[in-house]
Amino acid sequence: MTDNCGRQITYLRISVTDLCNLRCDYCMPAEGVTKRQHSNILRVEEILEIAEAAVELGIRKIRITGGEPLLRRGLLDICKGVKELGIDDLAVTTNGILLRDFAEPLKNSGVNRVNVSLDTLKPEVFRKLTRSRGSAPELQNVLDGIDAAKLAGLTPIKLNCVLMRGVNDGEIEDIADFAERMDVELRFIELMPIGQAKDMWRERYLPNSEVIKRLGLKNGVQRGVAMQYGRIGLIDPVSRAFCPTCNRIRLTADGNIKPCLHSAREIPVRNLHGAELRGALTAAILSKPEAHDGLSGDAPSRSQRGMNKIGG
Ligand code: SAM
Ligand code: SF4
Repeated sequence: MTDNCGRQITYLRISVTDLCNLRCDYCMPAEGVTKRQHSNILRVEEILEIAEAAVELGIRKIRITGGEPLLRRGLLDICKGVKELGIDDLAVTTNGILLRDFAEPLKNSGVNRVNVSLDTLKPEVFRKLTRSRGSAPELQNVLDGIDAAKLAGLTPIKLNCVLMRGVNDGEIEDIADFAERMDVELRFIELMPIGQAKDMWRERYLPNSEVIKRLGLKNGVQRGVAMQYGRIGLIDPVSRAFCPTCNRIRLTADGNIKPCLHSAREIPVRNLHGAELRGALTAAILSKPEAHDGLSGDAPSRSQRGMNKIGG
């Protein structure tokens, strides 16, 4: 359906869990992430009922995210059920740690493609950024996951890289070369002042103009929320708000619709059915703001949730 600003809302992102097997320092707190009570998280059937209602209202593309979606019990049933709704595109965003074992089953469950988050190619930077210790997951797990996704045909694979000053800004060229060698797409995403990233945003934020300069990118074309330069996409939520082309709503793991990533507004849809559920989804779409306020260190996101509870 069309929102109040004339945008066709065709894309639903579903967060299926808040939990994660990494602790990326810009996304999750180091400690104190408590496992939610099982009963606070939508059950598989509840997710499917909400997705079905959303499809009736015109959603054509669904992305499964987290936390880390591959940790969610029943994930493959969610994927199968969503795919059976007859949408055009079913994608998953993952940190890739468990992807080696999940690639094939995901494909067999109707998933078309995956986005894999890859911020660095340096094992020691990966360990520091994801706060991995001891026998914790390694960068190599992610690289193996990307290989497995290619083999399983979860294509086109997109790598998502959040660029941060003093963390991985020395790797722009290397990551671009890696994507080319692997024959996958790459998207550089600007760090947003939301959740954990609010405090570190001023020192780490790097506009994507840096990527344009360093890689000599030319003749970008707007595709959805990204500026596309061949197989490299730039997502600039901070330096170039893409609100006019935003076509998405989000469902949180505990059953709330977020019409805008950076707004505190949430519409509860848990325990609603039939016309009532469609009514709440319609109201959510119609309440989608025209734009979010400028994002900056002085004006961070108004979202009450961090990214691990929204899913990007
Ligand atoms: N765990 C999965 C993963 O890492 O791909 C899915 C959830 S994660 C929250 C989705 C994406 O959000 C990741 O690519 C991550 O890098 C990105 N992200 C997290 N915090 C962010 C921030 N403050 N600004 C920009 N992107 C962020
Ligand atoms: Fe986990 Fe993804 Fe957040 Fe990293 S970015 S902590 S992998 S949810």
